[in-house]
Amino acid sequence: MKNVLEYLENISNDNKVIDKNGSITYKDLQVISKKIGSGLAKYVKNNDPVPVYMEKGISCLEVFMGSLYAGGFYSLLNAGLPKMRLEQIINVLDVDYVVTDKEHLENAKEFFHDKELILYEDLVDSEIDDELLAGIRAKKLDVDPVYANFTSGSTGVPKGVVVGNRSIIDFIDNFTSTFGINETDIIANQAPFDFDVSVKDIYPALKTGATLVIVPKELFSRPAELIDFLVEHKVTTMTWAVSALCLISTFHGLDYKVPETVKKIMFSGEVMPMKHLKEWMKHLPNATFVNLYGPTEITCNCTYHIIDRNREYEKIPVGIPFNNEDVFLLDENNKLVESNGIKGEICVRGSALALGYYKNKEQTDRAFVRNPLNDKYIEYIYRTGDLGYYENNDLYFGGRKDFQIKYMGHRIELEEIDKAIGGFDGVERVCSIFKEEKSKLYAFYIGDIEVKELHEKLSKELPVFMIPSKFVKLEQMPLTKNGKIDRKKLEELI
Ligand code: AMP
Repeated sequence: MKNVLEYLENISNDNKVIDKNGSITYKDLQVISKKIGSGLAKYVKNNDPVPVYMEKGISCLEVFMGSLYAGGFYSLLNAGLPKMRLEQIINVLDVDYVVTDKEHLENAKEFFHDKELILYEDLVDSEIDDELLAGIRAKKLDVDPVYANFTSGSTGVPKGVVVGNRSIIDFIDNFTSTFGINETDIIANQAPFDFDVSVKDIYPALKTGATLVIVPKELFSRPAELIDFLVEHKVTTMTWAVSALCLISTFHGLDYKVPETVKKIMFSGEVMPMKHLKEWMKHLPNATFVNLYGPTEITCNCTYHIIDRNREYEKIPVGIPFNNEDVFLLDENNKLVESNGIKGEICVRGSALALGYYKNKEQTDRAFVRNPLNDKYIEYIYRTGDLGYYENNDLYFGGRKDFQIKYMGHRIELEEIDKAIGGFDGVERVCSIFKEEKSKLYAFYIGDIEVKELHEKLSKELPVFMIPSKFVKLEQMPLTKNGKIDRKKLEELI
């Protein structure tokens, strides 16, 4: 198998994808995707990006698959992002067209005024051109890209992580077999489609023919309705971000009702707080819980730890590598760390490595490097920037080497916030700080600009989740002996 479309084409059951507007069988999904692919093929060259400006849902999934039939790869432009961020992403993708639907057309006209807007509603009316699609498919390789998901970048420009067929097939085959996902499962998708957590919903569903239920995003601010939804759809499998699970437990949603059909809960993205995990485990005594670890750049996850109900955890290990992945620690001298208690950078080796950052050689070369432990042939590893350590031979997450954080479930490089604020007239110096215990983001700055104006300007540039909860105007920036901003002193001011 070399193309993820084979997953879709191999489904023989009558299961469906369900969203808030209706449902579609996998057979019909295939037909519509082929129509879209036939229509899109005149715009898309082999391995070109297809920017998709739509809400997550069945039609969006149809466009994703249609983009692959057309020979390209998809990249979702999240409709919740501000104009400037979308422009940055579209500049990186650098194509003349954007696929959108009638619902988003007005915004699309404003945001992408120099692009050709291709309407979903027109694409689905295209005739399937089997010969054309077969010709396109014959040229495809397993190393060709399937999607690009954008994450925060320290240089001030988001990075598009490009992931290919081979990596998805490698990871999803192991993910579904490790956790026994099959066609009887009902998978509840939580993650937005521009997050790779959603890859663990879409592709296991396509591989096994399981039912995929796309949870409407507005339910994530209404915990009781969210639980009702899970109960109503008899969900069995949840692969969710830690922040989304905690939303339910924070509001004691499980005291209201328990989605008793749920058999597997897999979480990732940040350290799962024990208190919240215990709450979930108490209400679902027979379910399996799994901590998944890994960055987008290695295709979803590289390690997992199945929670042992008989073990008293102080903290949860990130666990053992998935089949066909090697996860190891390197010290500052690129030597292997094997002893307990010593921190090293978590590095990953294997087919699941992404293809790099789209049109960003510099950042790609920094993170996807030749394996320093192998000078015998070409072998790449991904340096995660995460620190890890072993304790009693279990691998644990031990923080970051840099200023990347997780805030409200989003991965953010603090330098990107600083770059945006520092770019405004009236700002001389700036430093953003994340206070983990309070889960709050602060921006300290010196300059003439007032806090209100700064806040307004920043909201036009960065997504909501990157806007600090507090701006603090200082007379002077505290500096270390070496003249660097003294982050410790700033933290003391909080
Ligand atoms: P993303 O690319 O958005 O999935 O973010 C990846 C980063 O999230 C990793 O490099 C870690 O810093 C963090 N992360 C992911 N999973 C976990 C986990 N299970 N425990 C702790 N941190 C995690």
